[in-house]
Amino acid sequence: MKTDIEAVIHNLALRNINAYYFESLDEVEKEIHRIIPLKASVGIGNSQTLKKIDLSEKLRVRGNVVFDKTTAINKQEARELSKKAILADWYISGTNAISRDGHIVNIDHTGNRVAAMIYGPEKVIVVIGINKIADSLSAAIDRAKNTAAIQNAKRAGHTPPCIELKKCIDCRSKDRVCNHLVIIEGQVDKDRFKVFIVNERVGF
Ligand code: SF4
Repeated sequence: MKTDIEAVIHNLALRNINAYYFESLDEVEKEIHRIIPLKASVGIGNSQTLKKIDLSEKLRVRGNVVFDKTTAINKQEARELSKKAILADWYISGTNAISRDGHIVNIDHTGNRVAAMIYGPEKVIVVIGINKIADSLSAAIDRAKNTAAIQNAKRAGHTPPCIELKKCIDCRSKDRVCNHLVIIEGQVDKDRFKVFIVNERVGF
């Protein structure tokens, strides 16, 4: 696995994306606290990995302005928080998969998370567990569809057919959660986007 991680870090660098290795989520959390200024606003993408360290609340408590739609009390507030997150100074998110050669693959329901990853926030951090490293781009897409999307649909209370079938059938269900398949292949500004790879199996 170590060689896979080294390959991902090397191949992301070729795509103008800096990636860093951490032994634990605790280390990731410390680094996030170290590099993000207290005066910065921070958008948070819906991520089981980030929820595990309660990042949104911890940043808020120490003084950052945080926009996290999962803290909203209704749909309208969630929409407002998503829009503000796209204009935040920093954006932190999980991701669905990374291929060994550095494709960052995500499937979104509404698209707010991938929108902020692509454009808006001046700095982006993506945190990913080793369970999400895939051998190839097609394996990363397969993981996003047949693992992440199904788990996320279940978590959010949607009922597309993949939950019963335990595989994606590219449904046309009104409960389809896969509306945006986005592959990030590089960055213009090499200091904008950082990937933090953590040596834990975490998230969907
Ligand atoms: S069956 Fe539908 S909702 Fe489920 S993973 Fe496939 S496209 Fe997405």
